[in-house]
Amino acid sequence: MDDQRTVTVIGAGIVGLCCARALQRRGRRVTVIDSGEPGRGTSYGNAGILSAGSVLPEGHPGLWKRLPGLLLDRQGPLTIRPGYLPQMLPWLLRFMANTTPGRAEAISKALATIVLPSVEHYMALLDDVPGDQVPIRRQGCLYLYPRPQDVKAAEPDNAARKRRGVAVEILGPDEVRQLIPALGPDMAGGALATQSGHATSPLALSQLLAAQIESAGGTFVRAEVSGFTIGADGPSHVRTDQGEIAIEDVVIAAGAFSKPLAAALGNTVPLDTERGYHMMLPQPQIEIRVPMLISSLGFGVTPMDDGLRLAGTVEFGGLKAPPDYRRADIILAHAKRLFPDLGEEGAEPWMGHRPSMPDSLPVISRSSRFDRVFYAFGHGHLGLSLGAVTGRLIADLVEGRPSDIDPAPFRADRF
Ligand SMILES: Cc1cc2nc3c(=O)[nH]c(=O)nc-3n(C[C@H](O)[C@H](O)[C@H](O)COP(=O)(O)OP(=O)(O)OC[C@H]3O[C@@H](n4cnc5c(N)ncnc54)[C@H](O)[C@@H]3O)c2cc1C
Repeated sequence: MDDQRTVTVIGAGIVGLCCARALQRRGRRVTVIDSGEPGRGTSYGNAGILSAGSVLPEGHPGLWKRLPGLLLDRQGPLTIRPGYLPQMLPWLLRFMANTTPGRAEAISKALATIVLPSVEHYMALLDDVPGDQVPIRRQGCLYLYPRPQDVKAAEPDNAARKRRGVAVEILGPDEVRQLIPALGPDMAGGALATQSGHATSPLALSQLLAAQIESAGGTFVRAEVSGFTIGADGPSHVRTDQGEIAIEDVVIAAGAFSKPLAAALGNTVPLDTERGYHMMLPQPQIEIRVPMLISSLGFGVTPMDDGLRLAGTVEFGGLKAPPDYRRADIILAHAKRLFPDLGEEGAEPWMGHRPSMPDSLPVISRSSRFDRVFYAFGHGHLGLSLGAVTGRLIADLVEGRPSDIDPAPFRADRF
């Protein structure tokens, strides 16, 4: 491999930034192109959890039985905009095909190889930054079960997590209350995934990476990419609204917007978006030290530098429809039931586009058509957790070096 070639990374979300920094640390020159500021896309508004316990696919076996109920519940964690259903049907069918026990087991094994060491991969990528400047804390992540039936329903999930090597401590109501005194009466138990961490500001994490890249000589270009000029040796230029830019190696890391770029470079991938919402509470009036996930309600609660963030829910509605901030209001209403003293003054809603593959696995891969083209997108619910490990895998692929993580499950041509 020619290590003199510049690598152009398209997309300055957490995934693109981690790829650029990992490549730079291996001695590559890097250029990062984004139409906006680094870290201001979906990577800005997530729940911030580096979720080592997320080794189970989104498509649980048996989900089809619960799907109609989930879709009919207007306050529930899942909604499909009616006009979008025909367009997303192929994705949905593939998603359902991945909910068989056999597929779920294979997906879970692959996920565990990349998600379990999330925090360690960030620490390795940022080991040249003083620890107190890295906006990551390792205080675990609590799975909170508001109702007794949630405790029961979580038993197989926690058993599966333990099988995969996730350290989970099952907690009774008193132990949960000790950990989170602000909880009201709606609480039946919990499980603490101790290997998880959280970003106290996902934006600050992206900005730290961007600053590292820039101070080590990397270049940032503000431009919207529309396509590529393909020469005899593959793509020679990227076409942007600021003109053409010559490229050598290229990594597509444009999150939910990666599909047409990958198609132009040889791979048609079933990427869609699961839109998600947050409500940021600058003055929550309660103290929460440990982030938590409430699966039955489809959102997480994370203490951040600038307040408490409530983030989650899934809305299928594509890339173009305007946000429906009633989804964020629903999250807030649920949170107020869980935490009766929660302060909502100054609450700010936000919507972002999860880049989601129907098998819950990202695409971390070389292009099927061009040797100098790489993909790093499709991280769905786990893009923050998987940023640093993706950077590591992409750097191995670009260098043509064998990885200690098997990259096969993440190939672009697996469909
Ligand atoms: C509500 C919510 C909560 C979440 N919580 C968590 C969590 O707790 N933990 C976790 O691990 N994950 C979480 N996620 C998922 C995570 O946020 C995403 O998987 C991750 O941010 C994806 O990162 P990315 O870099 O691929 O995409 P993005 O952050 O969207 O970055 C893509 C970048 O590409 C740029 N771009 C796109 N198209 C072009 C183009 N044509 N030309 C130039 N630039 C372009 C965009 O401007 C953007 O900056 C959550 C997501 C949501 C919505």
